Amino acid sequence: MERTFLAIKPDGVQRGLVGEIISRFETKGFTLVGLKFLKASRELAEQHYAVHKERPFFGSLVDFITSGPVVAMVWEGDGVIASARKLIGATNPLTAEPGTIRGDLGINIGRNIIHGSDAPETAQYEIGLWFREEELVNWQPHLTPWLH
Ligand code: ADP
Ligand code: MG
Repeated sequence: MERTFLAIKPDGVQRGLVGEIISRFETKGFTLVGLKFLKASRELAEQHYAVHKERPFFGSLVDFITSGPVVAMVWEGDGVIASARKLIGATNPLTAEPGTIRGDLGINIGRNIIHGSDAPETAQYEIGLWFREEELVNWQPHLTPWLH
């Protein structure tokens, strides 16, 4: 079953949006299989955003993501990687569609509330970076799939 890595960034935590954001993935029908609340180390943040290390905003991005606690999560379900990206919306909250998390809740590209893996390879890399295998729970909700 497909899995993705999502993280509510420090701005989402500080603004009290944790419940609202988790609700969107729960009500969509995806399954939570990993969850932790932590302040990321600089090393972890740099590894997480390694693909952006040459970008001009890399330093401020790492500063920000390590500035306060984040909610790190693994969600599971058919098509969850691409679907979560759709639910999250475009990188810039000002151009993200209404109805998406960023489109509904944010205005600043550097404070865009949530991270979501963008492809199967990045999902695998990010899940492995943030979680040990034994921190992920293999379970299925007792629902028939067509309920969603
Ligand atoms: P996404 O989070 O939508 O996958 P990217 O992978 O392109 O976006 O960028 C990673 C993060 O870096 C973004 O979520 C955003 O917080 C930050 N970022 C991206 N572009 C900029 C920018 N031009 N200025 C400041 N921060 C940026
Ligand atoms: Mg990205």
